[in-house]
Amino acid sequence: MESTRRLHRNPTARLLASQFAPYVDAFTQHLTEGRYASHTVGSYLSCLVHFERWTSRCRLNIRQIDEEAVRRFLDDHLPRCNCAKPVRADSRDLRAALGHWLVVLRAKGVIAESPVGTTPVDEELRHFDDHMHHVRGLAPKTRSLFLRTVRRLLLEQFADRPVVISTIKPEALRRFFARQSELYCSPASAGSLTSALRGYFRFRATCGDQVHGLIGALCYPTGVVAEGPQQRRGRTLAGRARPRWPIGTPRRRHRALRAGPWLAQQRNRQAWARRH
Ligand SMILES: [Zn+2]
Repeated sequence: MESTRRLHRNPTARLLASQFAPYVDAFTQHLTEGRYASHTVGSYLSCLVHFERWTSRCRLNIRQIDEEAVRRFLDDHLPRCNCAKPVRADSRDLRAALGHWLVVLRAKGVIAESPVGTTPVDEELRHFDDHMHHVRGLAPKTRSLFLRTVRRLLLEQFADRPVVISTIKPEALRRFFARQSELYCSPASAGSLTSALRGYFRFRATCGDQVHGLIGALCYPTGVVAEGPQQRRGRTLAGRARPRWPIGTPRRRHRALRAGPWLAQQRNRQAWARRH
């Protein structure tokens, strides 16, 4: 618990004096092992502080926390929240943080297992997994990796609502990609993020969804957006300086690619000179 206190002194001060205290360190560890950035861990701890205030006010025992309690907090309390400031009120962060909190409480045996696979996202992931298994023949490890990525996207976009792909905007996908790619330390692992998302959207295409815009928002393997001001400024989605040539592309080929427009211009000039 000392590690949590040291990392995020302010948000956790209240938590460490509450009924949540014995599990706060496991929560931090769960997020850290999930490779969440330190500032995200801090945000989620702040979310937990808000939730803990509400459970205290409702005299809700930690063993009574479940999806229904989280729903009441998000849908009933949050729109009318009058908790003393400062308080974390971003519904998307709260939803994500509390999803992790339930996972930790279940892993610690504090609360009962939920009936598995009852949400629309669970159902959607089952379909996608079937497709990866039976149509694409992917290995279990790859399927698991892809499911983790797609689950994060779908939970962020839909939470417990029905999955409607047409409502995902390319810009939202780019923001998701940028946040997720910060978690990866190598172009190869960032490439697996792109593969997962592309694989999912191709699956949706087989279901009849129009996903060209979404697939176009991803660029294999570095995730550089195909168009947009960020790219024009020569930066990746994650805000890092773009490499001098695309990763995985030999320098010689990259030079040839860059010279392409210039060579075409020269050829046009020569052809024009021959004609006149
Ligand atoms: Zn509140």
